[in-house]
Parts: sequence; C-alpha cells; structure tokens
Amino acid sequence: MLIGVPKETAPGEKRVATVPDVVEKLVKLGFAVAVESGAGDAANFADETYSAAGATVVPTAADIWTRSDIVFKVRAPSTDEVALLREGGTLISFIWPAQNPELMQQLAARKVTVLAIDALPRQLSRAQKMDALTSMAGISGYRAVIEAANAFGRFFNGQITAAGKIPPAKVFIAGAGVAGLAAIGTAANLGAIVRANDTRAEVADQVVSLGGEFVKVDYEEEGSGGGGYAKVMSEGFQAAQRAMYAQQAKDADIIITTALIPGKPAPKLITAEMVQSMKPGSVIVDMAGEQGGNCELTVPGEAVVRHGVTIIGYTDLVSRLAKQSSTLYATNLLRVTEELCKNKEGRKDGVINVNMEDDAIRGLTVIKEGSVTWPAPPLKLP
Ligand code: NAD
Repeated sequence: MLIGVPKETAPGEKRVATVPDVVEKLVKLGFAVAVESGAGDAANFADETYSAAGATVVPTAADIWTRSDIVFKVRAPSTDEVALLREGGTLISFIWPAQNPELMQQLAARKVTVLAIDALPRQLSRAQKMDALTSMAGISGYRAVIEAANAFGRFFNGQITAAGKIPPAKVFIAGAGVAGLAAIGTAANLGAIVRANDTRAEVADQVVSLGGEFVKVDYEEEGSGGGGYAKVMSEGFQAAQRAMYAQQAKDADIIITTALIPGKPAPKLITAEMVQSMKPGSVIVDMAGEQGGNCELTVPGEAVVRHGVTIIGYTDLVSRLAKQSSTLYATNLLRVTEELCKNKEGRKDGVINVNMEDDAIRGLTVIKEGSVTWPAPPLKLP
C-alpha cells in the first residue's frame, strides 16, 4: 500500500506527519511512501533526506491525496483536502470529532476510513507508544518554560558570583497533567524553585518526583472527573483555590498555566488582580489559550505586557519545536501502523487491517468505510 504525506496547510503549522527515519521503517514494513515536496521544510527535513530514506517526493498535494491508500497528516484536513481523498482510502490524523461534526460528515461522505489520533484510548498501557496527545503535551510543557526563560530578565538558577548572590527564580505551575509535569521537570532542571497545584491530588507524588513542591488548596474535594481527567470544581473550592493562587502570584516570578477540563472552557485561575500583584518583569505562560485561557488577561496567540508582566498566550508551542514534535508524532503514527499491520503470519507486506476487535484500534477508528463509528463504546478494563 502507498502511504502519502502532504505538506500541512494550516497557517503557522510547521510539523510534518513523517520524518526520514520513520520512512525507512515504513518501507521495511512493506509500504511505499510518497511525500509532497517541501512537506518537511519548516521542520528542517529536506526533500533529499526523504528520498534517501526510500520515499518518493512528488510535486503537488493532489498527487498525495488522490493516489495514496493511507494519508498521514498532523492537523485535521481542510474541506479542500477532504474533497481530494480517495474513496476507500484511510486517513490517520488529529480530527477532534466532538468539536468537528461537519468535518466528520464530509469525511464519511467520501466513504473513507479515518483514525483520529486524539481518540486513542489513553488508559490502555499498550496505547502509550501511540499517544500523540502525550508526546505533544510534553513538548509544549518544555517549550513553555523555554519561552518563559526567554522573556524573563534573570537567571533561573541561584548563583553566587563575584558580583553578588543571585536568588533562584520561583516558578508556579497550575495544572500538573502531562504538560504541567514536563514544565515542572524542565524548570527544576534549569535550577528554579518550582511549586505546582492541581485539582487531582493524585499527581502530588509525580510533582515531587520531578523536583517540585505540591501546593494544596485548603478545601477537601475530590478533583478527579474519571479517566485521569479533571472536573469542574465547586464554588467553595474555587474560592479557596483563588485565595491560594493570589498568594502564589505575589511570590512567583513565573507562572505557567496548563489547566484543562475535557469538553469545558479552561478554568480561569489567574485574575487581572493577581497579575497586578506580581513583580514587574514577571512572566506568565498560559498554555490554555486555545480553550479560552487560564488567565483573564491572556490574548491567545500573542505575547502582551499587562501591569509590567509579560503574558504569553502562544498556541503554537509544539510548532516552535517542529523537528522534535514531528519526530515524536511520526513515531506515534509508525506505532499505529505497526498495530494495523498485525497479522497471524507475521507478514511484512505493507497491508493494513483495521481490526475493530482490537480495543486500541476500535477507539482510534472514528469512521469505518464511510460509517461513523465514533464514539467508541466504553472500554471494559480489568
Ligand atoms: P489535561 O490537559 O486535560 O489537563 C491538564 C491538567 O489540568 C490536569 O492534570 C488537570 O487535572 C488539571 N486541572 C484541570 N482543572 C484544574 C484547576 N481548576 N486547577 C488546577 N488544575 C486543573 O490533562 P492531560 O495532561 O492530557 O492528562 C491528564 C491525566 O490523564 C494525566 O495526568 C494522566 O493521569 C492521564 N493520562 C493517562 C494516560 C494513561 O493512562 N496511559 C495517558 C495520558 C494521560
């Protein structure tokens, strides 16, 4: 079968869905691979490196969409791209079916099979190697700290120099999921004093293991909404949390916010008043910009200065590390492809089988040969 990789078309998107090292592995699995010319340019993968790895480089996106049996993409396809999809073909990409009902209808009308990488059942330990949400969140958390360090006028680590003693920077992280934990580890490695809070108390040990201190809200309420995700907290909890965050804001040099609740707007955790109380030159990186932001003063996609505090609301943190994010994303798609290639005989003939009896594949498959199969029935976990 032919796997095709078009150039991403969303404005500002620098990632590419496969990289030369992964092309070599796909070829070993028996696939032919075609890549649109220039697809890897923004992530620093030149056409020649794809050719050397065994891919065919083709001049236009139409060559990819109309000829490929399987299309690998990063962002959900545009209406124009959907129209080019080959009937009977397979698309593997981010889709976000709940947020994109029209796209789902358009794709189903093309009589294709669609695997949404965002629909992976992340609870399955077998699914971890395919989990692009986790790999992308980890990169965002790392990059958020780098952006903060870049905008901050001092060192992160404490230093004793001939010119005087410099205290370490204090970093407060709101939300200690995948991105928050990556931010905690990165900031601690740079030598900052790191504190973090999450509504799910179960993450406290992970915060500590990465070099941070877990700061509790003085209010007893279970924060887990199921599946490892958060829920909307009670008014009482929110008031207690605001009081604690107001204290942290006065003390912190840098705040990184990552708090999200599935299917809901991002909780507003940092008020305008808290920003005003921060020291001039402090930095906030709000990673929840696309979901409305955790800080009242965030402008999604931009860096602004309010009350002397730089507030970074970039929504393209992974694209700012395009080589790394493309490499991890491509590896996640390779693992999906390996699962699709599993056959009893152990053949490596470059043929996929979308086995709906397999829990991981069932979860990923949101359209099967034109029929919408999303959402998958709940997993029966032991
Ligand atoms: P996410 O991006 O939805 O949320 C980020 C974090 O914000 C979460 O930790 C959440 O608890 C926190 N949060 C939400 N509201 C908050 C508030 N008001 N105040 C403070 N914090 C708040 O989550 P994510 O990072 O994608 O994943 C969360 C969890 O899912 C992980 O920590 C993990 O436990 C679980 N997960 C499990 C697997 C697996 O089982 N293999 C894989 C990936 C993720």
